[in-house]
Amino acid sequence: MTPEWKRILAESIDNPRDIAALSGLDAATLVSVCSRYPLLINPYVLHTAQAGGPPLLKQVIPDPRELDDRAGVADPLAEERDSPVPLLTHRYPDRVLFLVSGRCASICRFCTRKRKIGRMDPISDRAIENGVDYIRGNDRIRDVLLSGGDPLVLEDDRLAWILSMVRSIPHVETIRIGTRVPCFLPQRITPGLVRVLRRFQPLYVNMHFNHPAEITPEAAAACLKLADAGLPLGSQTVLLRGVNDNASILAGLMRALLRIRVKPYYLLQADLTRGTDHFRTRTGTGLEIMKQMRGHISGMAVPAFVMDLPGGGGKVPLLPDYVQSRDPDSLTLRNYRGDLYTYPEPHTGG
Ligand SMILES: *Cc1c(COP(=O)(O)O)cnc(C)c1O
Ligand code: SF4
Repeated sequence: MTPEWKRILAESIDNPRDIAALSGLDAATLVSVCSRYPLLINPYVLHTAQAGGPPLLKQVIPDPRELDDRAGVADPLAEERDSPVPLLTHRYPDRVLFLVSGRCASICRFCTRKRKIGRMDPISDRAIENGVDYIRGNDRIRDVLLSGGDPLVLEDDRLAWILSMVRSIPHVETIRIGTRVPCFLPQRITPGLVRVLRRFQPLYVNMHFNHPAEITPEAAAACLKLADAGLPLGSQTVLLRGVNDNASILAGLMRALLRIRVKPYYLLQADLTRGTDHFRTRTGTGLEIMKQMRGHISGMAVPAFVMDLPGGGGKVPLLPDYVQSRDPDSLTLRNYRGDLYTYPEPHTGG
């Protein structure tokens, strides 16, 4: 019998005419947006988004503004420039991004890899093996981040094949899987998949949730299955205009993640990706949201706010200004309530 997750994926909508009524746009406009940037929405995502309203719908329903973006660039993080072999981006000394899957459970309109998502050639065994060979030949690589596309839409045995090759490399200490599947296709978290993942510990599952309405009973159950199997869970959130650019929504999301045993990791400033300019917020918006979270909710729930620098400079944290003034002998800081405190520096040396 076909597993439920495969039936859901097989029933995905990819024809823009099928969502014309829902989007409020005419079919011709939708067709022209989707001929440039493909559409994919599985029935679970559609159902969740219809229940969740505009913040969820905007993430997956095409928008004519995608074709009218003068700020964005195709590859804002220069992932191709820092790619020593196909499928790998090696930017930081000790870790690599390994794009092992060309598919996602649905397509996000704001995706950083919008230039190629939904139109990648199938990834060959040979390309995967070449990526593994690069990692094996470079003993500074301690951390391998599997991404895509989404690695968890691969079949169990293909994922096990990739994971076992990566795990067999002595200098690889940790493996991470970056996935939107617990959010977009929680039915995929089957006992069989969990058995595969547990074999390759330490393996961190880093997921992607943007709004508290995405944490349905199904998504919560999927996360608890992964947590019960002993897999450490993290989540990243993209800050998106009109979706989650609000402190009470994001604080609610972060607290909801902790309840399902997922540690918020990053809040990402939206990248400068062509076709996504209408989703970007001003940096001050994210800083203000961080200020309203830090100190007010459990520190466990507070992610780091980071920007992935345009041009491939890597991720840099952005912090609200807590330091009011600094001199050689002391530091004056503002706490979460806005009160000032002074910390005297130790007298060292001369
Ligand atoms: C985000 C990213 C990583 C992982 O960064 P961490 O800060 O370690 O989570 C690694 N490589 C690339 C190219 C990335 O974009
Ligand atoms: S699931 Fe991730 S990789 Fe896939 S479209 Fe969404 S943001 Fe992009």
